[in-house]
Amino acid sequence: MVVPWLVKTLLVIPPWLQKKYPQLQWRIPTKKKILFLTFDDGPCPEHTPFVLHLLRAYQAKATFFLVGKQIEKYPDLVRLILQNGHAIGNHTYSHKDAWRTPLKTYLNEVFITETLLKPFLPKQYPLLFRPPYGHWKKTLICSLKDRYQIVLWEVLAGDFAKKLSLTQCLKILLQYTRPGSIVVFHDSIRHGNRMRYLLSNAIQHWSQQGYRFCSLWNGY
Ligand SMILES: [Zn+2]
Repeated sequence: MVVPWLVKTLLVIPPWLQKKYPQLQWRIPTKKKILFLTFDDGPCPEHTPFVLHLLRAYQAKATFFLVGKQIEKYPDLVRLILQNGHAIGNHTYSHKDAWRTPLKTYLNEVFITETLLKPFLPKQYPLLFRPPYGHWKKTLICSLKDRYQIVLWEVLAGDFAKKLSLTQCLKILLQYTRPGSIVVFHDSIRHGNRMRYLLSNAIQHWSQQGYRFCSLWNGY
């Protein structure tokens, strides 16, 4: 059993750390009961339709950070995400780790994915980027910050952390989300089953608490 403080440290970005890097978006400053749910690594035919269906049931809008490889394989799912009123962003072509990849290769992945996304993107919205694993370097931020809104998060759902029990993850998720939190789930085969459990339970709870759910493109 992983101790609760460690679970919290893994899943929640504290305000002091957010303040240290103001060029990255960790949350949306608001006092209104709004949450910004985000789904990384998709689209994937096994789980994206489930997520879209559940979001529709709660009239929720969200943001999907898509991987170029998956966009190539499942363009119809990208269209479906947009038809449902959600936002989409760039998550590199093959889920590259900025700490292990030369900058040039990494940026190339970002721009290939941008080219793949372009036919789908409505022009009036900002380009969104989330670095896989939340790993970034100063040079990377410098290269992308004028072109992209770089989105990190305030709370991770913990669907990816198989060593943590779902009960622990759900508890932290409900305890630490607050008005304006950006929350991460994973829309992928690897983490989909845990994501389904956490999302279904959390969205029901938040909705009962009076929260609304907006995408990073919505007026909020
Ligand atoms: Zn990812």
